[in-house]
Amino acid sequence: MKYIIFNWKSYLNLPETLKLSNLVNKLPNTKKYKFIYSPNILFTSLIKSRFPKSNLSTQNIDIFGRGANTGSIDISLIKDLKIKFSLLGHSEVRTNLLETDQLVAAKLNQCMDHQITPIVCIGETLNIYKSKKTKNFLNNQISTIFSKKNKYQEVILAYEPIWSIGTGLTPQMSEINEICSFLMNILKKYSFKKINILYGGSVNLDNIKDILNLPSVDGVLVGSASIKASFIKFFK
Ligand code: PEP
Repeated sequence: MKYIIFNWKSYLNLPETLKLSNLVNKLPNTKKYKFIYSPNILFTSLIKSRFPKSNLSTQNIDIFGRGANTGSIDISLIKDLKIKFSLLGHSEVRTNLLETDQLVAAKLNQCMDHQITPIVCIGETLNIYKSKKTKNFLNNQISTIFSKKNKYQEVILAYEPIWSIGTGLTPQMSEINEICSFLMNILKKYSFKKINILYGGSVNLDNIKDILNLPSVDGVLVGSASIKASFIKFFK
């Protein structure tokens, strides 16, 4: 079974979101794929009531609980909505909202406390990739985000090279496979009930088959291509 995660970011307005949700909810429920989608947070409650069986993810959470926290995305409210997943550490959140690996670690713990499955995004810049320091960089990200003292429930890790997000560029297939296998090896030192490793970054109709065929890749996280009906219909 491969995870197929759609990240709709802030691309869509409400009618567009409902139309696409309708398409996702009509996809066949087979053992081949598990579909999760991440609409803008403003629409999650409505989508949940119109399509109660949707596997929804939020695009972010924060570490403040219920209370005097203006602007907060309170994880306990996400849980109340029966949303089971949240992206953490997406590169756009890291850039726009100054999220750090330390903050991702704190959010990860919040997810564990509230039985939300985190989709933890990590990845290197183009400079790091070009200077062949990707493995070292990812190793550092993992050791900051995860703790060997913790026992984690289900976690999804998305390897998303920053230089690949929204650019049309991807690493070579052999590189994606090698990095995902490298990550799985590092993660063996930690305790998870379940861990899966996904690739994200310029996945589209031309490359998705090859990526999903890579033995070390448990699925894909798709941004811009996933707002096209033709992309969703690929899975019919
Ligand atoms: C993403 O936002 O996680 C992503 C992978 O975007 P894109 O598919 O557009 O590169």
